Amino acid sequence: MISGSLRRRCQDVVGPDGVIADPLRLRTYECDGLTGYRVVPALVVLPRTTEEVAAVVRACAAEGVPFVARGAGTGLSGGALPHAEGVLIVLQRMRRILEIDPVNQRAVLEPGVTNLEISRAVAGLDLYYAPDPSSQVVCTIGGNVAENSGGAHCLKYGFTTNHVVALETVMPDGEIVQLGAPHADPIGYDLRGVFVGSEGTLGIATKVMVRLLRKPQAVRTLVADFTSPHDAGDAVSAIIAEGIVPAAVEMLDQLAIAACEDATNAGYSRDAGAALVVELDGSDAEVEAEFDVVLRLCEDTGATKIRIAGSPEERALIWKGRKAAFAAMGRLSPDYFVQDGVIPRVKLGEVLARIATMAENDGLRVANVFHAGDGNLHPLVLYDDGVGGQAERAERLATAIVELCVEVGGSITGEHGVGTDKACSMPKMFTEDDLAVMLRVRTAFDPQGISNPGKVFPTPRLCGERPGPYKPHPLETAGVVERL
Ligand SMILES: Cc1cc2nc3c(=O)[nH]c(=O)nc-3n(C[C@H](O)[C@H](O)[C@H](O)COP(=O)(O)OP(=O)(O)OC[C@H]3O[C@@H](n4cnc5c(N)ncnc54)[C@H](O)[C@@H]3O)c2cc1C
Repeated sequence: MISGSLRRRCQDVVGPDGVIADPLRLRTYECDGLTGYRVVPALVVLPRTTEEVAAVVRACAAEGVPFVARGAGTGLSGGALPHAEGVLIVLQRMRRILEIDPVNQRAVLEPGVTNLEISRAVAGLDLYYAPDPSSQVVCTIGGNVAENSGGAHCLKYGFTTNHVVALETVMPDGEIVQLGAPHADPIGYDLRGVFVGSEGTLGIATKVMVRLLRKPQAVRTLVADFTSPHDAGDAVSAIIAEGIVPAAVEMLDQLAIAACEDATNAGYSRDAGAALVVELDGSDAEVEAEFDVVLRLCEDTGATKIRIAGSPEERALIWKGRKAAFAAMGRLSPDYFVQDGVIPRVKLGEVLARIATMAENDGLRVANVFHAGDGNLHPLVLYDDGVGGQAERAERLATAIVELCVEVGGSITGEHGVGTDKACSMPKMFTEDDLAVMLRVRTAFDPQGISNPGKVFPTPRLCGERPGPYKPHPLETAGVVERL
């Protein structure tokens, strides 16, 4: 329970309208995009400035109370899952773009600025911010930093960590610290690099300085249809083997195509076994030359149809279809798990075939839509929670898929983070010694262990008695009681 004094201190800092303690309103924050896990926080606080964040964190630290940072809550690994006896610090009121420096190609942002807003704000200067998660309309730069988020264009340009040059952070004791520097290669330990991807366990980012890129002179996009994901995988390997690094190479299988078409009418061929979206960017001459090679390689590897975007509008429509994929799954199935794993690119065909067999054996459907260029799979395990046993089978299958990724030499997550969901899988990738070193880094930042506890690192509670997907109590379903 939160003490009355902590609640009053928070209220003194952010004012009455910045504190939520009403049990019904608290439920708004009970989960992130991984809705299978739900915990109602003891208190929600909505600060407006770095100083307010620091004061709230100091108040928590003084009483040893856990706190969890939250951006837009679109995370898919339960990273922003609240602590039942802790404070949820929601950064959405901190959404100002503080500075744009077109000469040095830098922008300074508050953590609640959405990813897409950055590119929109600098579009008139012929600049943009490269990492583009499909959730970019709503997800925040603070969440992107914490998750080291990726996106379709990270194959060529790298993940968030390659585009964040400096951070202002509130440490878990409330101290305000600058990490990194505006210029390249600052001396000393790369603590900025340690913070990016730390999933809220090392403190809270309150300002983010990002690198902006010049918009490329030319962009060309195509959609190539194939009879199977295996053939599409061969095309990806052939393109990369040719020495071409496309801005993006995305794959959708037949189920994913059906869902995207139902949702957006983006013009993908419903009868294709798989579709590849390939985008090249750069100078006019480079793009022109490489585009011809990509066309030839798609044809050589069995493309049955190739559609070339003829206008910026058509290109935008193709991306609209691809980026709607997760949300569009609701059209195919009442429930689904979004999985996120990485495999060596050369294993694409083999792994997709094994996932299909595993799904068939379990009597479940799996749709695949993913960043094929860097082997970052997103199998979507479809199930109906209303059918007894399906949720459990789907969860087992989702876990087995991620274990398969590790078995073939990949990783348990590509971009969605470890969070609550994959803490148990960490020992599959790391030895006890590896984890002990990581924990020592965490403890150096957060000796009390109050910044987003229970995430990333496996704990006996998580691994021994895993809470599992949320199930309403029969009394809740019957409307007799309400869960607070
Ligand atoms: C439809 C859909 C598509 C998606 N597509 C992609 C994709 O293409 N690529 C990708 O990488 N991800 C994707 N995601 C996942 C998600 O959008 C990203 O992880 C995103 O970065 C989360 O941002 P958020 O603001 O919603 O953070 P939240 O979900 O609120 O928080 C995520 C984590 O960051 C921490 N955090 C939040 N703000 C701060 C801060 N200021 N300081 C410190 N820690 C903080 C939280 O404690 C939590 O651990 C997708 C999600 C959805 C729902």
